[in-house]
Amino acid sequence: MAIASINPTTGETLKTFDALSSAQIEEKLQLAADTFRTYRRTPFEERARMMTRAAEILENDKNALAKIMTTEMGKPIKAAVSEAEKCARVCRYYAENAQHHLADQVVETNARKSYVHFQPLGPVLAVMPWNFPFWQVFRFAAPALMAGNVGLLKHASNVPQCALAIEEIFTRAGFPKGAFQTLLIGSGEVERILNDARVVAATLTGSEPAGASVASIAGKQIKKTVLELGGSDPFIVMPSANLDEAVTTAVKARTINNGQSCIAAKRFIVAAKIYDEFERKFVEEMRALSIGDPMEESTDIGPLATPQIVKDLEDQVQRAVAAGARVLTGGKRPDRAGNFFEPTVLVNLDLKAPVSCEETFGPVATLFRASGIDEAIQIANATTFGLGSSAWTNDPKEQAQFIEELEAGSVFINGMVASDPRLPFGGVKHSGYGRELAEFGIREFVNIKTVWMGGTPTSDTE
Ligand code: NAP
Repeated sequence: MAIASINPTTGETLKTFDALSSAQIEEKLQLAADTFRTYRRTPFEERARMMTRAAEILENDKNALAKIMTTEMGKPIKAAVSEAEKCARVCRYYAENAQHHLADQVVETNARKSYVHFQPLGPVLAVMPWNFPFWQVFRFAAPALMAGNVGLLKHASNVPQCALAIEEIFTRAGFPKGAFQTLLIGSGEVERILNDARVVAATLTGSEPAGASVASIAGKQIKKTVLELGGSDPFIVMPSANLDEAVTTAVKARTINNGQSCIAAKRFIVAAKIYDEFERKFVEEMRALSIGDPMEESTDIGPLATPQIVKDLEDQVQRAVAAGARVLTGGKRPDRAGNFFEPTVLVNLDLKAPVSCEETFGPVATLFRASGIDEAIQIANATTFGLGSSAWTNDPKEQAQFIEELEAGSVFINGMVASDPRLPFGGVKHSGYGRELAEFGIREFVNIKTVWMGGTPTSDTE
């Protein structure tokens, strides 16, 4: 089977790769297991030196790396450069903080000494998506490698050049052969790898069906998983908010990465008192976005990553319209080659309409009018997803209510949802479980080992 890199702006096939044979997969799994045995003993200082070198490579080569991302999956070039810079930040964050996050924790008991000791688990499989083709991988790899694990990357089939470039960064940074390997394979091979005893855990960032499949296979093997799945984030605007700032941020939050972000705001819920003004300004700003070649610095919206994504989005919009939605702008492909879709605003939606309860992976926004905060929260929570949420209000009581009642892995007050190496990232409900980033992320793939030494127990032990 061939894995192809196809430019979504032009449709041109840039490169094709043969998927790994069974023998090659076996070789890589064995190398991962062998490398783990020695790599786990490398001191934190040495791991940090290599991780810092990876950060330097990302910084020095950011323009070349960005070009690979943009030509392979279509994100605007300026966003691709920022993505490379952000990967460098996560490498530096864990180079500087991993040892502290994983330091022994002494706990006073009746023992002479008792403490919690963190140890790496082994080779971890990372199944990753194409939408942030570097960031998603680095936010797994930086903590995993700093904790002493080794990584096996099964990247999305449409970004093989990104996958290979990432492996090369870790090699150039000095990590031992086998500490981070890219497996060029289709998703059909994932089951067999998860069933292999040498692979001890898995993380998947991607769609709900892919997450459910990987988690069920891993579950049968009693292997730990972290799932970062889809989202349908609410963006709520109340009357006390700064409306102009909210509108401009709302447009950015919906169209970032050409609208293909798990934490893009997808449903805009606006208090009735300011709804009309919000709608007018929001539509105006969505219409003003420039669609075009993502290699141009001035482009706001590039192509979607694959023709299938355009088809799916078009189908969602058509089904919503058939169910009574009204298109205020966009709603179709523009008249040009490539996988483009116009920035779209839909209103008059039922909470059960396709675009209300499904994730829309492209520049399609849905607007809802809420009578007040209680209805806004009810609409916001009327989804099976629970990834991020953004609420705009300057009323402290309302802020507290949003923080308490929004069903999501994060609440951003007067700001756009974004990931940050210093803060945990993840979801609830069907958006997944487990956390990435910060100290929570690095503790996902470690053995939290209890150490009890000497002393006389005073009670019966279990
Ligand atoms: P996807 O189709 O689920 O693919 C993600 C990865 O899973 C790819 O490597 C894919 O391989 C693999 N895969 C697909 N089906 C699989 C299966 N049955 N078993 C094992 N592996 C399988 O998702 P996508 O279209 O690339 O990415 C978009 C989705 O990711 C959206 O739902 C988005 O919200 C979500 N996402 C979530 C986060 C988060 O942090 N929560 C971040 C980014 C994206 P192939 O490419 O070979 O099929």
